[in-house]
Amino acid sequence: SIDDSVNKNITLEDIFISVKTSRHYQASRLPVILKTWFQLAKEQTWFFTDVDNPLHQNQTNGHMINTHCPSFHQPKHLCCKTSIEYDHFLDSGKKWFCHFDDDNYVNIPRLVSVLQRYDHRLDWYLGRQSVNRPVYVNYQKKKILYFRFGTGGAGYCISRSLALKMSPIASGGRFMSVCEGIRMPDDVAIGFVIEQLLKVNITEVPEFHSHLEQMKLLPLNKLRDQISFGFFWKKNYKDTVNAVNVPGFSARYDPTRFLSLHCFLFPYFQFCKLIRR
Ligand code: UDP
Ligand code: MN
Repeated sequence: SIDDSVNKNITLEDIFISVKTSRHYQASRLPVILKTWFQLAKEQTWFFTDVDNPLHQNQTNGHMINTHCPSFHQPKHLCCKTSIEYDHFLDSGKKWFCHFDDDNYVNIPRLVSVLQRYDHRLDWYLGRQSVNRPVYVNYQKKKILYFRFGTGGAGYCISRSLALKMSPIASGGRFMSVCEGIRMPDDVAIGFVIEQLLKVNITEVPEFHSHLEQMKLLPLNKLRDQISFGFFWKKNYKDTVNAVNVPGFSARYDPTRFLSLHCFLFPYFQFCKLIRR
């Protein structure tokens, strides 16, 4: 149950933030993160990638982990990274495991204050469902199972208590076998382990967002309350841009809107002075 009095003492220090990234996005997605929200959680945030980059290693004070997973957008390969993210969380001893994609903006103070509502000593799987109905998978020769999962692209958090219960099934690379067993991407497989195998239900936290939603529908006066944001942007496709609607830099300079969003939330950052008013 939710007990406000229990965990007021949860701080950023107690959270392990992992970001899945890849050589394909080290030029287009990573720099924005490093310039903005990473600066508010430098010690807690770790990047899981598939390349060695001395510049980024230096900019993150050694927080880039080369998983040596293949760099393709295939369920198997994404599971390979998630498996390593999860193992690093277990080793970290932190109270919360929070995963995000590299096309997320994470509102760090809000992440902390929302987690303060939950007790990490109980089993919590917090996230946003990509669809409002359960998904089904074929498992062990045609047994069809239905369960829910939190979409990875919006971010999700797992309490330490629950992460430890997942350990016999998922630690030490075993998570990859789970993915292969159901032939599903990593976020679906996380849902499978938690909901189907451990019988713990996801708790829908509407403050998590991905580019599967229309980002521009988030009202300005509600931005501060949200944990995560997404963007979708394809070069040369003018109409497929999906980004937060926030004033600030030009759309050309800041197509993801993450620089502008960051300045909206934290106007004291030095680079925000460059916004023309
Ligand atoms: N990703 C990856 N390897 C790849 C492609 C993507 O690790 O070859 C990561 C990417 O960095 C991101 C996540 O997988 O964190 C989701 O990728 P993307 O946003 O491109 O696709 P989506 O799943 O949102 O359609
Ligand atoms: Mn994405």
